[in-house]
Amino acid sequence: MTDPVLALNEPPGDRIARTTCYMCACRCGIQVHLKDGKVRYIEGNPGHPVNRGVLCAKGAAGIKQHYSPARLKKPMKRIGERGENRFEEIEWDEALQLATEKLAAARALDPNRLAFFTGRDQSQALTGWWAQQFGTYNYAAHGGFCSVNMAAGGLYTLGGSFWEFGEPDWEHADYLMLWGVAEDHDSNPIKLGLGRLKSRR
Ligand code: SF4
Repeated sequence: MTDPVLALNEPPGDRIARTTCYMCACRCGIQVHLKDGKVRYIEGNPGHPVNRGVLCAKGAAGIKQHYSPARLKKPMKRIGERGENRFEEIEWDEALQLATEKLAAARALDPNRLAFFTGRDQSQALTGWWAQQFGTYNYAAHGGFCSVNMAAGGLYTLGGSFWEFGEPDWEHADYLMLWGVAEDHDSNPIKLGLGRLKSRR
C-alpha cells in the first residue's frame, strides 16, 4: 500500500499556471501549481529566458504573498486617534467615497496639498498620470529612491540596466566587480551570468 506522505511522484496540483515571479525585480518565469484553485507549489519555468528554471527561496515563498494572515483583504479605516493603531475593515464603496470626499476637498483648496507616493507596482505610468490629472506635482514612487537610480547607473556604465532591461556583456567581460550590489535585484539572472563567467576561466 502506498504511503500518502511519500507519494512524491503525484502532481501537487490539478492545474499549472505560468506567470512571472513578483517577489523581486527579476521577474523569473514560474509555474504555479494550483489545487482546487489554491496555490500549492511554485517552481521555476525551465522555458523562461530570465531564469531557465531556477527559483530562489524568496520566489518559492511567494505562496505567502497570497496566503499570509497579515495580508490586507479589505480597505482599513482608522477608528481611533492617529497613532493608536486601531482600524476596522470597510467595503470598497465606502473607502472610495471617503477618499473622494477628502481628495476633492484638498483639490479645491490646492491640488499640491496632495503628496502621492506609490510603491513598486509597475503601474507608475498610470499613477503618475493620475497625479498629473489631479494637479499635484508632489508625486513619486519607490523606483525614484531605488531601482531607477540603479538602472540609470547601469545604462551609463554597462549599456543596460542590469536586470530585466539589460545585463553585462557576460560573453566578453574579463573582470566583474560587484560593489555594494543589491543582489535581490538580479538574483537568478546574476547567478546564471556568474556561472557563464566562471565557465570561461
Ligand atoms: S530572483 Fe527569486 S524572488 Fe526574484 S523574481 Fe526570481 S525567483 Fe522571484
